[in-house]
Amino acid sequence: MNALAIAAPGPTTEAPATAPPAAHVEIRQLGKRFGANTVLQDLALSVGQGEFISLLGPSGCGKTTLLRLIAGLMLPDTGTITIGGRDLTRTPPHKRNVGVVFQNYALFPHLTVAENVGFGLRNRRIGGEELKRRVDEALALVRMQAFAERSVTALSGGQQQRIAVARAIAVEPAILLLDEPFSALDRKLRETMQIELRHILRDLGITSIFVTHDQDEALVMSDRIAVMNQGQIEHFGAPSAIYTHPASLFVLEFVGQSTRLPGLVTRTEGDQVEVETALGRLRAPGGYLAGSRVVVAVRPEAVTLGEGPVAEFNMIKAPLADIVYLGAKTQLHFKGPEGEAIQVDLARLPQGGLAAGAELSLRWRIADTMLFPAP
Ligand code: ATP
Repeated sequence: MNALAIAAPGPTTEAPATAPPAAHVEIRQLGKRFGANTVLQDLALSVGQGEFISLLGPSGCGKTTLLRLIAGLMLPDTGTITIGGRDLTRTPPHKRNVGVVFQNYALFPHLTVAENVGFGLRNRRIGGEELKRRVDEALALVRMQAFAERSVTALSGGQQQRIAVARAIAVEPAILLLDEPFSALDRKLRETMQIELRHILRDLGITSIFVTHDQDEALVMSDRIAVMNQGQIEHFGAPSAIYTHPASLFVLEFVGQSTRLPGLVTRTEGDQVEVETALGRLRAPGGYLAGSRVVVAVRPEAVTLGEGPVAEFNMIKAPLADIVYLGAKTQLHFKGPEGEAIQVDLARLPQGGLAAGAELSLRWRIADTMLFPAP
């Protein structure tokens, strides 16, 4: 981090619009190493009762390891995991009352749908009418009652995933852990399942922790998202807070798209700073000292074409390099003088269209401008 930077652009944890419910899962100072490889380090996470949170991050950042530690499938080197006020750090998995849904469903191929869903209940010595009632209820929740007697091998991927969810919730777990449960499904089905599962789990009020590397999935499903990087949580907050006020350059780059322009703070004025960039002077809210090396950032949908009042807007000029039509929006790609990539997303193109190569004026609100210490 730049030594002259005196304030990071956002807190690493922040309250969502409504305060989260009382902590149900409390993780403190969790650490895990495999040989010389430190996978999780001093990790803290507090999940509210009935909350749906996602662990989001690139491959290898430690999401699955964290989930396996919560499930009890491996033990941490340091730290504690408390669920419902009980310290379960060293409790074996079958005594934690934790439901797990894996990426590959892990259904038993020799059992029917109903037998798969009832598996955990029979293990808990529940039989007879109660077994039947609870299997029926779980199948009804995932709208699969009509398939009860079918072999699970005669189901589609989406149907198998519904059964895996039904099996996990039939035992009424204290918390539900889901490890990339939709990654094998095609995009349309995945989107349907995301909405369906979100409704089911909200209605049941089960505290859920969901692992994904898909930012859209995390934004759609979660009450809060924990963005992980190299075994640590860089930002834990509501999806809108993660998107509009990312706590670090890593979070900004990992969630959504952005234009990022390196620069030098030349002046501070009240709660604003002025930054010299290759595209001219830009202003941004933030507390940095003159001389700080920073990155100015803006989301593509915050930028529009044309000029505006200087008191409110940052303005630059750049040549249009490419136009990408995406149906609901059109992406305009500009190139700065030092090769900076500038992206603008427009819901509608201006009348008369646009021609690649044209030098255009771009503007965005100073209030929409983000500032980060240069890496
Ligand atoms: P992905 O999205 O690819 O599943 P992830 O964020 O879930 O990644 P983890 O599976 O938690 O990442 O792995 C984190 C790191 O720990 C990786 O470098 C991985 O190689 C290592 N790792 C995980 N499990 C073991 C193990 N049993 N033995 C040794 N190293 C492991």
